[in-house]
Amino acid sequence: MQFQEPPELGNQYEDDRVLRSYLANVLPDGMLREIEGSLSEMGRLAGSELYEMQLADRLNEPVLTHWDAWGNRIDKIELTPLWRLGERIAAEHGVVATAYEQKHGRYSRVHQCALAYLFTPSTDIYSCPLAMTDGAARTLLGSGNQQLIDRAVPHLIARDPNEFWTAGQWMTEIAGGSDVGLSETVAKATSDATTFQLYGRKWFTSAATSQMALTLARPEGNPPGGRGLALFYVETRDEQGRLRNIEINRLKDKLGTRKVPTAELNLTGTPAQLVQGTADGVRNITPLLNITRLWNGISAVALMRRGLALAYDYARKRVAFGAPLSEKPLHRDTLAGLQAEFEAAFQLAFYVAELTGRSETREITEEDSHLLRLLTPLMKLTTGKQAVLVSSEVLETFGGAGYIEDTGLPVLLRDCQVLPIWEGTTNVLALDALRALESGDKDLKTGLVRFSTAVTGCLETARDPDLVDCARIAQSALDHAASWLVEAERAGRPALEAGARRFSLTLGRTMELALLIKHGRRSSARRFAHSGVDLIVTGLQDLQDLTEES
Ligand SMILES: Cc1cc2nc3c(=O)[nH]c(=O)nc-3n(C[C@H](O)[C@H](O)[C@H](O)COP(=O)(O)OP(=O)(O)OC[C@H]3O[C@@H](n4cnc5c(N)ncnc54)[C@H](O)[C@@H]3O)c2cc1C
Repeated sequence: MQFQEPPELGNQYEDDRVLRSYLANVLPDGMLREIEGSLSEMGRLAGSELYEMQLADRLNEPVLTHWDAWGNRIDKIELTPLWRLGERIAAEHGVVATAYEQKHGRYSRVHQCALAYLFTPSTDIYSCPLAMTDGAARTLLGSGNQQLIDRAVPHLIARDPNEFWTAGQWMTEIAGGSDVGLSETVAKATSDATTFQLYGRKWFTSAATSQMALTLARPEGNPPGGRGLALFYVETRDEQGRLRNIEINRLKDKLGTRKVPTAELNLTGTPAQLVQGTADGVRNITPLLNITRLWNGISAVALMRRGLALAYDYARKRVAFGAPLSEKPLHRDTLAGLQAEFEAAFQLAFYVAELTGRSETREITEEDSHLLRLLTPLMKLTTGKQAVLVSSEVLETFGGAGYIEDTGLPVLLRDCQVLPIWEGTTNVLALDALRALESGDKDLKTGLVRFSTAVTGCLETARDPDLVDCARIAQSALDHAASWLVEAERAGRPALEAGARRFSLTLGRTMELALLIKHGRRSSARRFAHSGVDLIVTGLQDLQDLTEES
């Protein structure tokens, strides 16, 4: 009798030709040699111990205990073994710290993202607390609040697991997720001018076991809306390990990310310190969101890569109609299409990492700083959608086995499904991209010219006739986006908003194609160029209908 052989993983760094060739292209001479040991070790862990633990840990989930045996309210969350191991490995291998130690200046962020990319798929979204930890460190460092920097940042970027802290980001409330300005949490002043007590209910808090959190609340007397919220720092437990006036109501029962302890919290006079001023909290928390959006994109490409690594191995083993699937032209074609989608997303996510690194070391031009402001939402929204599509198709490449839980495959799709939702949904980020085009006092059209310059810079590098062809397709999508923008602006705000998602996805995919061309990824560029780069629907008729309706 024949058995189906399970897919296996090798060293996830050494087997990843996309990551390796990208790093060889962008890192300065000698740097890859210096960091390769750390990447290879993380690749080894991700393909062996961590992956084995992930499969063994499959059915475990975090457990919330409200009461101890003696009737005391404890609200204790027990994490699963995989997550406990993940935390230790993340700290020891500097999955956050590498970006802050700055051993390689502006390339430190690329190095860190490469570590995160290798680490993420074997740890069932432990990337979530790490992303918020990284974002909290960046936000505190930029806040100028030296007392909080001295207090928290050394823990957030520690390599010693006993010193390492994670951070939560408590923004979403029942009244407002995307529209966070509707937040109802109130901050009552105490006799000490910078210390407040928070009263309210936080509806989604993913890193509920974190030692600290950054959160938004409205100091009493402040006006409604986002401007009236202030950014606060909370240490969740006192010296005895008791929660500081925080009740954990329950853990969410979620489609995926089931190892992530996403909790609903009551803040019942939680002590909190102002991070930066008594208002403008939404603006002041933006550095955190930029970092978590970068992590979202890196996680998207990491999960796509994991699905493909498993699918390639399986295709070599599974025989159908007289030959391994890897020899069947149509199966190969299917995988090649997914590979192109993954490579395109990879280039965009890592390009944003490069720009973020340059911004952090202040080696970025004003133009590129505006480009980063635009590419961060574009990258997050584009790669999130790609991850859902690719992981769904990956399951199909396994046939029935892809649908069976104890293969460890279905979780890939469920975990990817959160990527377009948290850290800003696709629509919300598409609207943010419009605001980003106008950054630096530019109008939408001038903002788009800035983006076009970056794209054409990549397209001009095409020499190979196939890549020149791809460049034409990218240019045509860009021209279509520009003409749509003129028409939509003329038609009015409803038309502009209605088309913002298609417009943003088109810009995101155009940039991806441009980067594939720049990095000479010929076969992926060819496939990607013919996989729907331009998603814009023109026709003044549509826009007129819409404006008439509204
Ligand atoms: C697993 C998980 C973990 C999470 N962890 C955290 C966490 O740790 N901390 C935290 O603060 N939050 C967290 N969130 C919350 C998440 O960030 C929000 O769910 C998300 O921002 C959307 O907010 P909402 O749920 O209120 O949806 P809504 O804002 O109500 O959005 C509903 C729909 O309306 C669309 N929409 C909204 N505004 C517009 C508009 N102007 N135009 C067009 N369409 C629009 C959205 O795109 C969406 O499709 C988590 C969510 C999940 C699923």
